[in-house]
Amino acid sequence: MSDPPKAVWRCPGCGSDEIEGLAWVRLKDETVQTWDENSAHWCPGCEEHVKRICEVTSEGRCLTHDQPFRICWIG
Ligand SMILES: [Zn+2]
Ligand SMILES: [Zn+2]
Repeated sequence: MSDPPKAVWRCPGCGSDEIEGLAWVRLKDETVQTWDENSAHWCPGCEEHVKRICEVTSEGRCLTHDQPFRICWIG
């Protein structure tokens, strides 16, 4: 069996994966239904709101921009 590659949302500014965003959550079981990808996200690493975030696989590939995350990573 092969699991699909796990991807996490990361900040291209500092690389943090602890970005917070506005999401719709089903109260019954507290699962995230959808969120507004175009709204600003809060990055606790940069301590500012970031507009652009990257969905990065465990291999370090950004699915959002279809390139290695190190290229997205402005630093
Ligand atoms: Zn950041
Ligand atoms: Zn990216």
